[in-house]
Amino acid sequence: MATVTLENLRKSYGPTEVIHGVDIDIADGEFIVIVGPSGCGKSTLLRMVAGLERVSAGEVRIDGTRVNDVEPMDRNIAMVFQNYALYPHMSVFENMAYGLKIAGTPKPEIAERVSDAARLLQLEDYLGRRPRELSGGQRQRVAMGRAIVRKPAVFLFDEPLSNLDAKLRVQMRLEIKQLQRRLGVTALYVTHDQVEAMTLADRMVVMNAGVADQIGAPLEVYARP
Ligand code: ADP
Ligand code: ADP
Repeated sequence: MATVTLENLRKSYGPTEVIHGVDIDIADGEFIVIVGPSGCGKSTLLRMVAGLERVSAGEVRIDGTRVNDVEPMDRNIAMVFQNYALYPHMSVFENMAYGLKIAGTPKPEIAERVSDAARLLQLEDYLGRRPRELSGGQRQRVAMGRAIVRKPAVFLFDEPLSNLDAKLRVQMRLEIKQLQRRLGVTALYVTHDQVEAMTLADRMVVMNAGVADQIGAPLEVYARP
C-alpha cells in the first residue's frame, strides 16, 4: 500500500496546457475513480502518475517521495490498459513473466510469482496458451496478472473493461474490486462508466477540461446538482 499525492499537477503540450493544477490526496489502500468527458485529461493524469508522461509543473508523490523524475519501472506502480497490450507471440506465462524477466528477477522467483498470480486469477490451466486462444475476460486477467506479479503498491487502470461485453464487465468489475481489497493496493481507475464508478470508488474525482471539479464519495458527488 502507498499514499499518492498530486500537488498542483500541470501538463502542457507545447503552448497548450491540458491539466490545470490538480490536487488530490489519496490514502493507503484507497480506491479512487476518475470520471469525466472524453478529452478532459483523465489519461494524461494517470500517465503522469505512472511516469509515462512528463510532468510540466507540480508534483507526484508516492509515500511522500517526489517521483517526477523516477522511471516508471521504479515507481512501485503497475498499469492495466484497455487494450491489454499482451504480446501475441508469447504464452500466458511469458506475458506475465516478461516484466520480471527484464527487471532481472531470478527464474525460480518468477515461476513462483506467476504461479501465485495465476492461482489468484484462475489462469492456472491456461499458462501455456497464447492470448488469441483466450476469452476477453481471460485476457484481461492476464493483463492484471502481469501487473500483480510485480507486487506494486499502486494499481493504475485506464478503462480496463471498455472492450468487454456488458455481462463480463460486471463480473470483471467485481473481480478487480476483490483483488484490490485482497492485495490491499491503492488504486486509481479511469472510466466513462458511471455504474463502474459508483460500485468501485471509495472516492470519485470528476474531471472537466483539465480541472478536478469535484472529489468525494460517489453518493456525495451524485447528490450535487
Ligand atoms: P481523456 O483521457 O480524458 O479522454 P486525455 O488525457 O487523453 O483525455 O487528453 C486530454 C487533452 O490533452 C485532450 O485535449 C488531448 O487532445 C490532449 N492530448 C493528449 N495527449 C496529447 C499529446 N501527446 N499531444 C498533444 N495533445 C495531447
Ligand atoms: P483516450 O482513449 O484516452 O481518449 P486518445 O485516443 O485521446 O486516448 O489518445 C490516444 C493517444 O494519442 C494517446 O497516447 C494520446 O497521448 C495521444 N493523443 C491524444 N490527443 C493527441 C493530440 N491532440 N496530439 C497528439 N497526440 C495525441
